[in-house]
Amino acid sequence: MKTTDGPDQTSPRRRRRPRGAAPATAPPEIRLSGDATVRGMAIGPVMLVLESPAPDIDAAARTDNPEHELERLGEAIERSVRQIERLRDRLAILPEDGQIEIGSLLEVYRRMLGPSRLQRGIHERIVRDGRTAELAVREETESLAQALLRDGAEIGGEDAAAAQRRAGEFREIGQRLVRNLGRTPFRSFSAMPAGTVLVAEQLRPADAALIDPSRIVAVATEEGGSTDHTAIMLRALGIPTVLAAHGLTAHARDGATMVVDGTTGHVVIDPSAETLEAARRGVADHARERQALGRLRRLPARLSSGEKLQLQANLELPAELPLIAQSGASGIGLLRTEFLFMNAATMPDEDRQAAIYAEIIGTMAGDTTTIRVVDWGGEKHSEALERAGLSQEGDTINPALGMRGLRLLLRYPAVLETQFAAILKASVAGPVRVMLPMVTVVPELREAREIYHRVARRLRRKGVQLGDTLPPLGIMVETPAAAIMGDALAQEAEFLAIGTNDLTMYTLAVDRGSAEVAPLYHPLHPAVLRLIQAATEAALRQYRPISLCGEIAGDPRVVPLLIGLGLRSFSMTASAVPRVKKVVRALSFEDCRRLAHRVMEASDVAEVTGLIDDFAAGT
Ligand code: PEP
Ligand code: MG
Repeated sequence: MKTTDGPDQTSPRRRRRPRGAAPATAPPEIRLSGDATVRGMAIGPVMLVLESPAPDIDAAARTDNPEHELERLGEAIERSVRQIERLRDRLAILPEDGQIEIGSLLEVYRRMLGPSRLQRGIHERIVRDGRTAELAVREETESLAQALLRDGAEIGGEDAAAAQRRAGEFREIGQRLVRNLGRTPFRSFSAMPAGTVLVAEQLRPADAALIDPSRIVAVATEEGGSTDHTAIMLRALGIPTVLAAHGLTAHARDGATMVVDGTTGHVVIDPSAETLEAARRGVADHARERQALGRLRRLPARLSSGEKLQLQANLELPAELPLIAQSGASGIGLLRTEFLFMNAATMPDEDRQAAIYAEIIGTMAGDTTTIRVVDWGGEKHSEALERAGLSQEGDTINPALGMRGLRLLLRYPAVLETQFAAILKASVAGPVRVMLPMVTVVPELREAREIYHRVARRLRRKGVQLGDTLPPLGIMVETPAAAIMGDALAQEAEFLAIGTNDLTMYTLAVDRGSAEVAPLYHPLHPAVLRLIQAATEAALRQYRPISLCGEIAGDPRVVPLLIGLGLRSFSMTASAVPRVKKVVRALSFEDCRRLAHRVMEASDVAEVTGLIDDFAAGT
């Protein structure tokens, strides 16, 4: 066929049209808007993934065979736990933020499926009220969700959003159990061709673990919202996303080209050639931005004036481990070991713990792992620890001021001995440090050290090979007493780590977990800053390493101040490391010191934040 330069859109000259643009016969483009949930732009063919309806539940049904219903429930729970385990196994293919977010959510689901209040409530409804398993699950999860929503609505603000997410978790687990009770299949995301835009009515947070971000370029849904759990998951995966685009499933067809702009919240089905050209430029900009962040991870954490910093990661769950290497963190500054005790009915024994620690230490490939012995107490509960004797019986009026952290371990030393022995055994796998939580007075540290040496002697007698010098034993500075007594503690502790989460709580007498007093919780309160300064200077005077591992270590606005106060080592959530590194690489020590000088003269939080914000705006 002869080709022309004319406007004949059906001629072969159409090949000059950008790939994927709508042909002249195609319907005009359809623009929809929704919640801009994950930044970034993507173009691709639509794949609609719709879910088969959940089974109906007969609200009038009653059972005269509760044992049978409990048995069915038990099987459905087992099946659900296995599904969640499988989802966890898939985490390794996800980007780092995704692994953290989804890993923690799956942990919450697993806990709900364990011996929880939810399970007790379902059992009661079956046994006491003669409900079928399906009805008991639905009634109990709905009642817990409603109670949360009521509380959230009363409090309002961010707490309302958190309550909504938590209510969603109960409903999600309820739906999973009901589907498993009726053996109704879940939808599959496995056959998605590379480059696809995933379109659905709604996505569950756990679906995010099934999405392969190397195949799906964007997500658009009809329902949902930018603050719900699914949104958090998708953000962690970094897939451009628009949620709550009304009319989406009515207009989208399998195979139709779609542009998803997660920055503005627009979705375009069958885009025109012009729309497509503009979208391609958006896609290229987005890719450049991501690459820049990736490159940063490999650069050293050094101030522009040359001083070297240490940026390490906090680790709460082993699932976060692969992220640490990707984040560019130089070691683990705080390994919270509470996860070992949380879902367990019995304590993991010495060898099991040693194997877990050794695996973590080995993964760090020569970078130091700082293992904190279990910090139990407050409002946390663990069947395993309670069976081992670590209950906080007695005074429950102020749990944070009662038997908690090191005090509790010294009262029941068997748990501490097991943990010390496991860490010492694992120390052959690489550099490790041992950290004690919630220290208030020097004698506590001395007593713990005696136990530490006694355990080492016992292991040596049994022929366990330990290095000539034991791993350093250090303390967390998270009480005003420890900060004020920094000089005395630094003489006996081999390193110190400031825990500003608790230090703020104890200094300002503000419960860190209470929504009511949350507006009074200020880690940048001058009183807290003075304690950070006192502890840092005390440690430096004794040439003891000191770091900071509270949440503020991951806040790029605050880190310049902390550097100015003399700190050089920070441990934070892995995903914060690149952001913090980006900021510190542009700082000079002299500027940080001047900022600290001005801040330490301030007398209230507003003044401190004003100075910090001005500094951030000027860098
Ligand atoms: C802290 O208190 O700052 C800290 C890091 O410990 P956790 O948050 O585990 O109490
Ligand atoms: Mg703490």
